[in-house]
Amino acid sequence: MHCPFCRNGDSRVIDSRTADDGSSIRRRRECPACGKRFTTVETASLSVLKRNGVTEAFSRDKIVSGVKKACQGRPVSDDDLALLAQKVEEAIRANGQAEINALEIGLAILPPLRELDEIAYLRFASVYQAFDTLEDFEAAIARLRAEDAVSDRPSASSASE
Ligand SMILES: [Zn+2]
Repeated sequence: MHCPFCRNGDSRVIDSRTADDGSSIRRRRECPACGKRFTTVETASLSVLKRNGVTEAFSRDKIVSGVKKACQGRPVSDDDLALLAQKVEEAIRANGQAEINALEIGLAILPPLRELDEIAYLRFASVYQAFDTLEDFEAAIARLRAEDAVSDRPSASSASE
């Protein structure tokens, strides 16, 4: 690993620690030439298998650009989108696979997008799940309503005891 300050071709690891969730290792390094210190982060590589059979590196930017259209005109900030992309990556990495299908990324986007904005969620789901008819929208909205009603009364079970 070369030094980002002086481009010296060598550096020395002075500390390594694993992230709390075990998904990455941070290494503190020191350059023997200029004495400056820097950190590297090591994660397992994650590739995406596209429908045309080509694989490419997973990219949070692509998640953001993929949902941006669905969020047009909605109260969703760039920070919200960055956080969404982070949640999607964490969800995918939690599965422990080194390669995932592009379709699975769509599935991983749906839950955090729904938390963020239900209209954007419906727009994204309508494209991703190829809604054809008004009935498809009605069914998706009915599901949202039913699940919202359940989560609005979290203490119902304990109250009835
Ligand atoms: Zn250096």
